[in-house]
Amino acid sequence: MIELRNVSKTFTLHNQSSAVIEVINNVSLSVAAGECVALTGASGAGKSTLMRMIYGNYLTQAGQILIDGTDVVQAEPRDVIALRRETLGYVSQFLRVVPRVPTLDVVAEPLRAVGAKAEIAQARAEELLAKLNIPQRLWSLSPTTFSGGEQQRVNIARGFAHTYPAMLLDEPTASLDATNRDVVLSLIEEAKARGAAIIGIFHDEAARVRVCDREIDVSQFTPGIAA
Ligand code: ADP
Ligand code: ADP
Repeated sequence: MIELRNVSKTFTLHNQSSAVIEVINNVSLSVAAGECVALTGASGAGKSTLMRMIYGNYLTQAGQILIDGTDVVQAEPRDVIALRRETLGYVSQFLRVVPRVPTLDVVAEPLRAVGAKAEIAQARAEELLAKLNIPQRLWSLSPTTFSGGEQQRVNIARGFAHTYPAMLLDEPTASLDATNRDVVLSLIEEAKARGAAIIGIFHDEAARVRVCDREIDVSQFTPGIAA
């Protein structure tokens, strides 16, 4: 379960002005197990910033962000790392990997990190890569030279390898063809069915309507950015 209580976020601009801008003002929001909530709002509204806050990217911020009872605002860095490993998954827009690691290991890694046996982790990685139509001849290669769409699908496979109780999805269907988009939406539906609480950004309205139960327009929390 994901719960935000009176969360706000300001950035200090590290230029000559050192101006402080408030990007998110006083958000309270609760996402139940098995529920998917879409963040909407124009570009610059603060959707990605809010997702990064929930993921514990920022050191100081006001309010409470509870993930299965752990407050990521107050938690020690090592507890945030453990939370990300076990409880809170994040599918970002772009794949970031250690060079030269084979795709199969990239995808299996989150499962190994929570103590899954190597064979179980590998079987799950193979299942996801096949489902996402990554040709088997690529599985032993590093994904760094893959096409944008292939990298995105590897990123999604990795994001869904472990069954996180809470997930953050940043445009998981962007730039996918219809077939793979459907696969991703099914993965999201499966995650919901097993009780994951999900917050996502989906520019594709049909995708959003299919998998999300509610929409939250983030611009209502944007306090008008001062010039
Ligand atoms: P969205 O995802 O809705 O397009 P963002 O969360 O990326 O919006 O951005 C919200 C606002 O916060 C924008 O005005 C953006 O420029 C600003 N912003 C985001 N990150 C930073 C940062 N690290 N420093 C300063 N401003 C930032
Ligand atoms: P992501 O792959 O996470 O979506 P982005 O390209 O949106 O990455 O952002 C990369 C980094 O730049 C993030 O750490 C974010 O906080 C920062 N950032 C985003 N927008 C701004 C901005 N307007 N000013 C300064 N930093 C920003």
